[in-house]
Amino acid sequence: MITFENVTKKYVNDQVAVNAINLEINKGEFFVLIGPSGCGKTTLLKMINRLIHLTEGTIRINGKRISDYNIHELRWNIGYVLQQIALFPHMTIEENIAVVPELKKWSKQQIQQRVRELLDMVGLEPDKYSQRKPKELSGGEQQRVGVIRALAADPEIILMDEPFSALDPISRTKLQDDLLELQRAIQKTIVFVSHDMQEALKLGDRICVMKDGEIVQIGTPHELIQNP
Ligand code: ADP
Ligand code: ADP
Repeated sequence: MITFENVTKKYVNDQVAVNAINLEINKGEFFVLIGPSGCGKTTLLKMINRLIHLTEGTIRINGKRISDYNIHELRWNIGYVLQQIALFPHMTIEENIAVVPELKKWSKQQIQQRVRELLDMVGLEPDKYSQRKPKELSGGEQQRVGVIRALAADPEIILMDEPFSALDPISRTKLQDDLLELQRAIQKTIVFVSHDMQEALKLGDRICVMKDGEIVQIGTPHELIQNP
């Protein structure tokens, strides 16, 4: 589904952030990238939707080079959830979720129905929440909206960069549980950056441990526990 062939990223100062990575992420897999701060996780993630340009190598999605996709097609078909809650403050929850469906020219009725369905999915009552502004929601609720916004237009792939790390431990556990349930229901390919091994073991079908821009270990939670 997503393949990395000898992918290297050097930043302007010639620092190698990601070094000749080869990697295959399977369709429907919950794939966790883990490692210490600065090891290249975010760089690896952002190269997938071309938020960062790679320096050498090839990344393919469904066999096609990412450079051969139309950039809009690529971005609209890859959901992206950030660590910082990144809802548009002046828009309602419904408007926030509707951004990509609107770009894709879905009908108003189709969008409204989709917004309700998504809010229901994460336990936010649509009648109560859809017309509110982000600041009228708690941090955990906002991050839930961040997650479903990334799902709104039914992307094949969802990239998540430490999406729950700014939350209190209780909200974090709840959102992890919700995400696992959601993933079982929708079977999307998720690439999830974390620095928390507990979180990685809980969520990942496979975990990829990085250090200094390289992969040092990769396997299922079971394999990682057997062979730490
Ligand atoms: P992680 O997500 O694992 O914390 P990053 O991918 O953010 O790691 O960073 C990998 C390395 O690349 C770090 O050494 C970081 O300082 C460097 N880096 C990240 N972004 C830039 C940038 N825009 N310019 C220069 N160096 C960068
Ligand atoms: P994240 O929350 O994803 O870890 P960072 O704090 O690593 O974000 O990076 C924030 C922004 O600063 C990003 O756009 C990243 O590319 C850039 N950045 C990170 N490290 C460096 C660096 N060493 N030099 C220049 N820019 C950097």
